Amino acid sequence: MGRKIYDAVALGEYLIDFVPDGVSAAGEPLLERNPGGAPVNVLAALAKLGNKTAFIGKVGQDPFGEYLRDVLIQQGIADEGLVLSRDAHTTMAFVHLDEQGERSFHFARQPGADELLTEAEVRPELTGGTRLFHFGSISLTSVPSRQATLYAVEAARQAGAIISYDPNWRPSLWETEELGLVWMKSGLEKAHIVKVSEEELALLTGQPDASTPDLAFGAEELILRYGLDVLLVTRGAAGTYYRTARYAGEVAASRVVPVDTTGAGDAFMGAFLHCVLGSETKAADWSEEELRRAVAFANAGGALATTRKGAIHSLGTLGEIEELLRGTR
Ligand code: ADP
Repeated sequence: MGRKIYDAVALGEYLIDFVPDGVSAAGEPLLERNPGGAPVNVLAALAKLGNKTAFIGKVGQDPFGEYLRDVLIQQGIADEGLVLSRDAHTTMAFVHLDEQGERSFHFARQPGADELLTEAEVRPELTGGTRLFHFGSISLTSVPSRQATLYAVEAARQAGAIISYDPNWRPSLWETEELGLVWMKSGLEKAHIVKVSEEELALLTGQPDASTPDLAFGAEELILRYGLDVLLVTRGAAGTYYRTARYAGEVAASRVVPVDTTGAGDAFMGAFLHCVLGSETKAADWSEEELRRAVAFANAGGALATTRKGAIHSLGTLGEIEELLRGTR
């Protein structure tokens, strides 16, 4: 096994989120430019906690692409795996908030640069040089980024990396729900650590009532079928359900006053993976106590990210997470 230069490498969509921020004098909505894409959010959380990270993905050769590269550099995430496309613009997502504050997305991605990442553009020194490799399902929605993703995951796995997967369900990005499910599940086959929402758990285990799935049944199904080390089901203010081959349980959320929940799941994941990287023992072999400690740490990371606006800008430091855990914050 080669020398590991990075603690964590992630691959996936990297884009501009345009987020509503009030109205102009003319009564038109004002949109704030934000870096978007879960894999980079997870890396930013890991980098903030002191891990050495790198990103693999594709943006357009345009001002937004330049801006996104600058964000990586500012966050201390290595950018040598970032590829610039001449054939497509940097992908953009327009966030719409309904009256209840629920988010929906409109994507400018026909195609977007993120979809055009190819296998040949995935650098072997990144997939082979990391202790942990993280990916999601948005890069699986189209070709060639799907092949690039599956190729990179396999290369990292062969090189002995821990594989972490966060499948996000965005129905508008798939041709059909059936096809989406097939590819979302293909990621589960390669992963050791997986995080899902309740809705995603319901979808992946064929439970018709997506809002209140049977957690115990769904989690057992995924653990057994895919031989996962750890499954985490995040439930917002209700906290997190965990399942391994040996243990199942829940850890309550940290108590905060949320302002904006964007990126809470990614901050949670980054904090959990920080614990995985900091442990001598494989997560599958952790005692239940050790697992609960890591989930509580991740819950605190997720909760902190809800107390400020944005995904990357809202991430907590190690000191802030520890204060929240001690109840001194
Ligand atoms: P996602 O951002 O993927 O939808 P969640 O909303 O479930 O994910 O949030 C991930 C984690 O962040 C939760 O498991 C929880 O620990 C924490 N979290 C999210 N919202 C809140 C909240 N309102 N109060 C406290 N913790 C929260």
